[in-house]
Amino acid sequence: MSVISAGIRYLDLEFLGVKGVIAAAVIEGASGIAIVDPGPTTSLAALKKGLLDAGYELGDIRAVLLTHIHLDHAGATGTLVRQYPDIRVFVHERGARHMADPAKLIDSATRLYGAEGMSRMWGEFLPVPAASMQALTGGERIDVCGRALDVAYTPGHASHHVSYLDQASGVAFVGDVAGGRLGRATFVMTPTPPPDIDLAVWQQSIDRLLAWQPTTLFLTHFGPSPLAPADHLGELSARLPRVAAFAKDAMALGADDEARIVLFRDEMRRELRRHMSDADADGYELAMPFDHCFSGLQRYWQKQS
Ligand SMILES: [Zn+2]
Repeated sequence: MSVISAGIRYLDLEFLGVKGVIAAAVIEGASGIAIVDPGPTTSLAALKKGLLDAGYELGDIRAVLLTHIHLDHAGATGTLVRQYPDIRVFVHERGARHMADPAKLIDSATRLYGAEGMSRMWGEFLPVPAASMQALTGGERIDVCGRALDVAYTPGHASHHVSYLDQASGVAFVGDVAGGRLGRATFVMTPTPPPDIDLAVWQQSIDRLLAWQPTTLFLTHFGPSPLAPADHLGELSARLPRVAAFAKDAMALGADDEARIVLFRDEMRRELRRHMSDADADGYELAMPFDHCFSGLQRYWQKQS
């Protein structure tokens, strides 16, 4: 595990065997540890191994803090709770009902990934008993393993997205609402999967994160941003409308969805190649598949008109 600040570390879940794509944060307290976004079930072995290397076991987990319930963030939660029923799960109230009954979530993910992709990429997604969850709305201060964390409601990427600010260190755990940044690149990418993308609401969430004045932004994709939080969020604010315009252009020019996706993907690949190596660009595409990014933005534009 790598250290971010005293009592806050993170580990690489080595998603599908690839390093540097999905990170899980570990909060250490006197009474055990908490995990922010434990990742998909297919990465559970990597989570277990990463914890073991630092002297912990899965049984030391007292709490799971979910930023949102997408499979790459929350997939393993139900499996962990089934094994360790005392784990408390923190999640936005709109996400809690889908964690308790994930049938709809699994259905819509299966439409994106197909049945084969679901088992190969994500593995099982077990329900979390309602009694194990603490539903959040934003604005709370919660105690996690003896540390105080503030909760903010930060929709835009997902309508049920929350972020957490560790009071002592100023580290903000921001899931996907601060975008993604991988490898040696400083390029901030905009993950825009369906169905909730809303650019105006997203910008309000960025402003909410800025108001926290965090010392560090911790991104699921991937880890602590090397950029100052204000610079990182400024770049995200500038890129969101630019990438949304790529999608709008592709919608106007493409004859059908397939053609539109190709146009958008080519534009995104050109954009990434202006800023980084091929290898780094591949990581971005694995963490934030461009066809899903297009679908989310297309749905956003259709709702706007
Ligand atoms: Zn994600």
